[in-house]
Amino acid sequence: MTAIGIHVESLDDEVRRRWMPGKGSVPMAEYEAAWDEAVRVFGRNRVSTYLLVGLGEDPDELVAGARRLIERGVYPFVVPLRPMAGTLACRDGISAPPADLVRDVTERIAAMLRAAGMIGADQRAGCAACGACGALSAAGA
Ligand code: SF4
Repeated sequence: MTAIGIHVESLDDEVRRRWMPGKGSVPMAEYEAAWDEAVRVFGRNRVSTYLLVGLGEDPDELVAGARRLIERGVYPFVVPLRPMAGTLACRDGISAPPADLVRDVTERIAAMLRAAGMIGADQRAGCAACGACGALSAAGA
């Protein structure tokens, strides 16, 4: 194996509890310990985590959390929420986040990744290497 994804989906505990009660019951400290162990085993920029944009989180806190992930060697793969027709999210009137918000968050995190020398394609496997669900690769990260 060349890379691993350990996907937290959101760094906001209230969002985690609301959208993913199972995963949300796992304390963030356990994710942090798992990421650190994965970086020890796989190396820096060989570990990624999904961060969804549009679940109700504060965009500035999302970006700050992404900075902390980058500092520990984890690639924050930011992806906009895309509710599918017929799912509970659509029934509850949730829609995809505004393009301007997605662009702003993506560009800020891409700049931090580029500055850290962490490019998704370098993971060679997994979502960070593929990049199709987000726009970080289009922003040079
Ligand atoms: S299309 Fe690519 S980025 Fe999206 S889920 Fe599949 S592997 Fe991950």
